[in-house]
Amino acid sequence: MSIDDAVRLESLTKTYGAGDSAVVALREIQLSFPRGSFTAVMGPSGSGKSTLLQCAAGLDRPTSGRVFIDGRDIIGLNETQLTELRRELTGFIFQSFNLLPSLTAEQNVSLPLRLAGIKPDRAAVLRALGQMGIDQKAGSRPSQLSGGQQQRVAIARALVTRPAVIFADEPTGALDLSTGRELLGALRRLVGPRQGQGFGTPPAVPAPADRTSAVTTIVMVTHDPNVAAYADRVVFLADGSMVGELIAPTAEAVAERMTDLAVAR
Ligand code: ADP
Ligand code: MG
Repeated sequence: MSIDDAVRLESLTKTYGAGDSAVVALREIQLSFPRGSFTAVMGPSGSGKSTLLQCAAGLDRPTSGRVFIDGRDIIGLNETQLTELRRELTGFIFQSFNLLPSLTAEQNVSLPLRLAGIKPDRAAVLRALGQMGIDQKAGSRPSQLSGGQQQRVAIARALVTRPAVIFADEPTGALDLSTGRELLGALRRLVGPRQGQGFGTPPAVPAPADRTSAVTTIVMVTHDPNVAAYADRVVFLADGSMVGELIAPTAEAVAERMTDLAVAR
């Protein structure tokens, strides 16, 4: 594999169940996510997007094939080793934010450090909140924050350990359109200017206020072509197989490809 890959999947196959009731969720997926790239994963419902994300993040084990995170083969690891590696190298963002309601924003962001046995460095926690433009809400509890603000805190929590890769499953699914766009702009800024310039017109991205973090790599599942258009690349799944990709996607091109996939079914 290239040392420039944050994540690499080799012949990744996942089967649920056995015998007549077996469902092949992923078939021989061959895919790499270069460091500093922002990839959207799209496909019809049931095509294997969530399974791919779960296996790539080490949250679920594939039936066969290999997964490398930051160059490390995670397949042979035991549960303890895998948990440690996940804490050190990955961040995960959920549609539903998943913040702990009794903790302040700052405490929520400190949590991954505490879980990793690291004494939370207040400056690092505030820097992660600052990267998401939400440091002024450090003392607020989730119930005192809007959905968009809560998701910013959740992203800060994913960032605080400076992971090699951040996985996001429909991160804007619970947000209204304009809040979702702001959040995607913030995710985009974490990665830097869009790659593949010249292929399309990327969304306008203001200069980053604070690029003190290590290189960020994002892998995001979405249903929405407008969301996918923030990525450098879109990979398409259908029935567990990878069926194509678009570099420097536009929302229109993504929507067209999705329609083709629906028709092909
Ligand atoms: P997507 O996220 O694209 O909607 P999923 O990865 O959730 O797709 O699911 C892919 C396939 O695997 C679907 O056919 C789904 O029904 C099946 N599947 C997912 N999770 C399980 C599970 N825990 N047990 C059995 N089948 C599952
Ligand atoms: Mg899903």
